[in-house]
Amino acid sequence: MSSIKIPILDLKPQYQAIKSEIQAAIDAVLESGQFVLGPTVANFEAEAARYLGVKHAIGVNSGTDALIIGLRALGIEAGDEVITTCFSFFATAESISNIGAKPVFVDIQADSFNINPDLIEAAVTAKTKAIMPVHLYGNPAAMAKIRAIAAKHNLKIIEDCAQSFGAVYKGNCDGCEDTCDDAIRQPLMGRRAGSLGDVGAFSFFPTKNLGAYGDGGLITTDDDRLAELAIMLRMHGSKQKYCNEMLGYNSRLDAIQAAILQVKLHYIDLWNQQRRQVAKTYSQLLEGVADVITPALSDGHVFHQYTIRILGGKRDHVKKSLADAGVGSMVYYPFPQDRLPIYDGQYPANPVSDELGKQVLSLPIWPELSAETSQFVVKTLRASL
Ligand SMILES: *Cc1c(COP(=O)(O)O)cnc(C)c1O
Repeated sequence: MSSIKIPILDLKPQYQAIKSEIQAAIDAVLESGQFVLGPTVANFEAEAARYLGVKHAIGVNSGTDALIIGLRALGIEAGDEVITTCFSFFATAESISNIGAKPVFVDIQADSFNINPDLIEAAVTAKTKAIMPVHLYGNPAAMAKIRAIAAKHNLKIIEDCAQSFGAVYKGNCDGCEDTCDDAIRQPLMGRRAGSLGDVGAFSFFPTKNLGAYGDGGLITTDDDRLAELAIMLRMHGSKQKYCNEMLGYNSRLDAIQAAILQVKLHYIDLWNQQRRQVAKTYSQLLEGVADVITPALSDGHVFHQYTIRILGGKRDHVKKSLADAGVGSMVYYPFPQDRLPIYDGQYPANPVSDELGKQVLSLPIWPELSAETSQFVVKTLRASL
């Protein structure tokens, strides 16, 4: 057996590269004596808002809280329906269920892994209040079509951007080359995830493209009123200390995490570019391999994950062979959200996501992953087929 060990993600090289900057940033917070919100968080929020191209960025405890507070700010309540994708981490649907609303699951497009915009309209009912697309694996969803549907039915859009910090909408995964309205699509071109709907929700969990060294999250919006509500909700429903106007949360971003994130924000474009290069290398090496479908290499994709499909019922065998050879891989996600035990039997079949749950395999990816490492991963994978 080989002694090489390749994890699915290695955060250590990144830390080594920016260690002195990170330590200085943490030290400045320790010296300042201000650990929750305060000027360090405000500076990071302002810089993140500029980078993402939004008017407001509001730091919170986690991506999950960003979704919950985003939904609450939009006025989503118990009994409302929110349309979302089958294929995501449970935090997506959980945020909807946690505020008493009902997630309505829509199947995905096999080539983008994202919500299929052509199936959304059939899921709209009198109770529908919002659509929550997820830019899965770092690939922007079909936002032009989604916005057209939202406008027609007077729905809000809350983007789950947990996997897509820095991703750019390029219109190329719309699958609509142009049945959709160019008047809606053109103004979105070149804009970043988090600026494509009414509210964006980001996660800074350490494994995400922009990761903290602990938990953290961010809410983005261009709407002053929504920003004001989000700021109140993260602080026990108060604008003014000890004057609480609504039920909120204790969900604020730590100054130490904000300081770390601000250092990392300066590198995010480089890191995302490196991830794209890793993805390109994998796709070249995997070209023509039978029973393997590689992901679309769209420009705006930031490859939080590099996820292939393995056909012929061989996915689990490949995963095990990789593990035996010391190569990490993961299935994101074995069960579509509508198939989770918590929603047992409540939802009709969504054939594409049911099928892809059995095919997907995410390979090791991080910005510094070398070409030699991708070659070893692919060699091992090919041998297992
Ligand atoms: C990570 C993730 C979340 C939740 O973020 P946390 O910061 O872990 O709460 C939500 N949605 C998706 C798609 C995610 O990948």
